[in-house]
Amino acid sequence: MPSLDLFARTALDAIDARQQRRVLVESVREGVQIRRDGVDYISFACNDYLGLAQRPEVLEAARLVLEKSGGGAGASRLVSGNHDHYAPLEQALAAHKGQEAGLVFGSGYLTNLGIIPALVGKGDLVLLDKLAHACMLDGAVLSGATMKRFRHNDALHLRALLEEDREHYRHVLIVTEHIFSMDGDRAPLQKMSEIAREYDAWLMADDAHGLGFFEEHASLGVDIWMGTMSKALGSYGGYVTGSKPLIDYLVSAARSLVFTTGLPPATCAGALAALRILQREPELARRAHGHAVTVAKALKLPQPAAAILPVMLGSEEAALAASHVLRQYGIYVQAIRPPTVPPGTSRLRLAFSAAHTDAQVEQLIGTLRDVSMAA
Ligand code: PMP
Repeated sequence: MPSLDLFARTALDAIDARQQRRVLVESVREGVQIRRDGVDYISFACNDYLGLAQRPEVLEAARLVLEKSGGGAGASRLVSGNHDHYAPLEQALAAHKGQEAGLVFGSGYLTNLGIIPALVGKGDLVLLDKLAHACMLDGAVLSGATMKRFRHNDALHLRALLEEDREHYRHVLIVTEHIFSMDGDRAPLQKMSEIAREYDAWLMADDAHGLGFFEEHASLGVDIWMGTMSKALGSYGGYVTGSKPLIDYLVSAARSLVFTTGLPPATCAGALAALRILQREPELARRAHGHAVTVAKALKLPQPAAAILPVMLGSEEAALAASHVLRQYGIYVQAIRPPTVPPGTSRLRLAFSAAHTDAQVEQLIGTLRDVSMAA
């Protein structure tokens, strides 16, 4: 066997031994229905929280631009790909966050990979929540700054690290999630921003899973908001918002913006149409959150802050088995395992959408009860 294949086989065997192998399964989605390997399920594994990905108004906005402007931007934004569907979207995102300016990237992952290394490097410190998403971690590693982790949502621990370390570094960037992607809880941003002020540190919050669920942003005191258009906006792409000098600087310094092709114009148009609906119809987010709260109450789980509810199971085997059993009942829920979450905290991650019916949510509750009775 060629040495490359031998390497891949051996590595896969090790992944299998840890029950951590990932495979790609073709998934065709229509609203909250999903067809996987030819079988239909109700999905609680999708981040289209407001059901906007297939909303006719969003599709129409994207379709019109697709027909007029074509499939792609044709070049990086700094060359000739900065089409006229960027600025309105960036302005709308900045206004939504109560900030001066915005900048759209190719994806949320690319946003974090671009902005963190543009802000900090050798001689600086990144303080990262213990459970922060992989793309924040990757951005921090890429930056070359010293990285320390504070205990999840623990503002006192954050403060202790700053008290101990602040004077040894030039700049300090605090990075956390607004709503945690795998835990569904909310960071104490206001408290963290007070601490950041006290120690002259910068606070950056990843709002990938919070967009649309909270109206007030300015009072939280976050310096840098970032997020994605791939979840509540049902589209694709990432963004950052902040002060005008910050955004102007990132245009020159964020390598994942400079050295990559711009998003297709139709993608930006669809995302902007979705953002307008998100703002006009706050009941959509209330409905998705309401579903999560209903299930949490029924199962006596901690209250979720937005539309994500984890059901903790512990081992990889237990999470895989539970997700497998649910599928036999026609329900698709993702089992989340390390390295996505820390060892021993494998879980089912329930993601709710405004598009779920009350009956579907009741069916989920009934099935989860049956499954745990059978277990
Ligand atoms: N941040 C968080 C917290 C996420 O959960 C994700 C995606 N799962 C991202 C960033 C990356 O966003 P995107 O999918 O647009 O790359």
